[in-house]
Amino acid sequence: MSERLSSAEACKQLVRRALERFRIPYITMTPTFSICPKHGYLNGEHEFCPKCDEELLADKNRSETDERETRAA
Ligand SMILES: [Zn+2]
Repeated sequence: MSERLSSAEACKQLVRRALERFRIPYITMTPTFSICPKHGYLNGEHEFCPKCDEELLADKNRSETDERETRAA
């Protein structure tokens, strides 16, 4: 458990350095897991972070709802 956490932490630091150096938005470390700079360790291989996707969708839905509520008011 702690071993996995510390290796995830080490990966995050590695990724942060890679992101700073190469200015890319996202990186996949290995075929078995991915690291999102925002969410860290992701189980499995992801071309895009599913949590970021969820947040983007939630933001989109929220702004659409806000728009409807504003119009109704
Ligand atoms: Zn993410």
